[in-house]
Amino acid sequence: MKEDTQRLQRRAGPRRDRQDLSRQQVVQRDKQFVWHPYTPMTRYIDEADPLVISGAEGSRLYDADGRSYIDANASWWTALLGHQHPRLVETLERQARKFCHVSLAGITHAPIAELSEKLCAVAPPGLVKAFYTDNGSSAVELAMKMCLQFWNQNGAPERKKFIALNDAFHGETLGVTALGGVEVFRRPFGGCLLDVVHVPTEKPDYERAVDVICEQVRREAEGLAAVVVEPLVQGAGGMKMYPPELLRRIRQVTAEVDTFLVVDEVFTGYGRTGAMWACELAQVEPDILCTAKGFTGGVLPMAATLATQRVFDGFSGDDERALFYGHTYCGHPLGAAVASTVLDVYRDEKIVQGVEARSEQLRRCFESLGQLPGVVRARTLGMVAALDLEHGIGYLDRAGWKVSERARELGVYLRPLGNVVYVAPPLNIPFDDLKELLEVVERSVRSVVGS
Ligand SMILES: *Cc1c(COP(=O)(O)O)cnc(C)c1O
Repeated sequence: MKEDTQRLQRRAGPRRDRQDLSRQQVVQRDKQFVWHPYTPMTRYIDEADPLVISGAEGSRLYDADGRSYIDANASWWTALLGHQHPRLVETLERQARKFCHVSLAGITHAPIAELSEKLCAVAPPGLVKAFYTDNGSSAVELAMKMCLQFWNQNGAPERKKFIALNDAFHGETLGVTALGGVEVFRRPFGGCLLDVVHVPTEKPDYERAVDVICEQVRREAEGLAAVVVEPLVQGAGGMKMYPPELLRRIRQVTAEVDTFLVVDEVFTGYGRTGAMWACELAQVEPDILCTAKGFTGGVLPMAATLATQRVFDGFSGDDERALFYGHTYCGHPLGAAVASTVLDVYRDEKIVQGVEARSEQLRRCFESLGQLPGVVRARTLGMVAALDLEHGIGYLDRAGWKVSERARELGVYLRPLGNVVYVAPPLNIPFDDLKELLEVVERSVRSVVGS
C-alpha cells in the first residue's frame, strides 16, 4: 500500500509539480539555481524580472502571466519559420516515434542521407559534402580543423594562421574564440588563444579593412590556413554591414594565394539577408561554409559544415589522413529530419522570396528612425535592421536596454547588443505582426532618445 502510494506520487509528482509552479516560483528557483548566458548575474539576480515563457507560436512568445510578445530576434536568430511551425513539430514527433538517436560513425539513416542531398542542392555552387556538428561554434571550430589538417597533410604544414575581422563573432569554443574580434569576449583568455590576425573594421572604413586584408593575405600567404568571415553582416559584433564587393575582393585575394575562404553563415544563412546565403549576394563561392541557427528552424541544436570536393579529397588516401572528428550527436536523426523539413518548408512556402517585401518595411522604419537626434547608422539588409544609439550622453547610459524595457511594456521582446538596437524576426512574420513590431520599436526608440 505504502509502496503503491509512493509509486503513484513519483509518477504524478513531477508533472503536477511543474504545472503548479507559479510564475513567481519559477523566477525564484531560476535566480537560485540557474547561471544565464551572457548575463551579468549580480545585476540579474538583484534587478531582473525575466519573461517566463509558457508558450510560443508563430512570431509570438507567451509569458506565464498570459501576455504575448512579438519575438523580435526569432529566439536568438534561430526560429526563422516562427515558433511551432506545424510541419516541424509533426516531423519531430514522427521521427521520435521511429528512433531518436544513432551514431553516424560508419552507420547511417534515411534522415541524414535525405537532408544531405537537399542541403548540397541548395548550397552555393561547389559545396558538395556536409559534415554535421551540434551548434554554430562547433561548425566553425570544425572548419578551422579541416583547414589545418588539410594543409598539414597536403604539402603546406606551415599554414597555421587565420585572418579574421575585428568585431567578428564565431562562437564559444576556445578555437573560435581566437577568431572572434569582440574584445570583451576575448580578454579573459589572453595568452591562451590561437594565432589570428584581426583586421580593423570601423565603418565607414570596411573598404580600408579589405585593403588591409589583401595586404595581410599576400604578406602572410605562406603561413595562412584561411580567412574566416561572417559574410555581409557581422552579427553579434553589432549588426555591422558591409557591401558584397568587399566579400568578392576577399574571395579574389584568397584564390590568388590559394588559401581557403571560410564563410560563417550561422547567422546570415537561410535567407536572413534576402538570399538563401549571404555569399550568394556577392556571387562568392567559398571553400567551406558553416551553417546553424536557422538550420533546424530553432527546433534542435544542430549545425553543418559544407566543403568543396577539393577540401574533401585532401582527406582521402591512407587511413591516417581521415578527418578524425565527430561529436556524439553528430547528424542526429531528430535534427536531421527536422532540418530536412525546414528545407521543404522553404521551398513550399517560398520563404526567401517573402523577405523582400518585409525588408522594405524594415528599411522604411529604420531609415526614418535614423533621422532622429541620438540615432546613428540605421541600416537594413534582408530581415535584419539595426541602428546605433549615440553614446556619451549621460541619460543614454544602457540606452539599448532602456529601449528593450520600453518595448517589453508595449508587447515586444527585443534584446539589444550594447547600444545597438536591432530586429531580426522570423522571416515569415505575418505583416500585421511586423507592423506592430515596427510601431513598438519606433515608440520605444523615440521615448529613449526623447523625441
Ligand atoms: C551564433 C553564432 C555562432 C555560434 O553559434 P552557436 O550555435 O551559438 O554555437 C557562430 N557564428 C555566428 C556568425 C553566429 O552568429
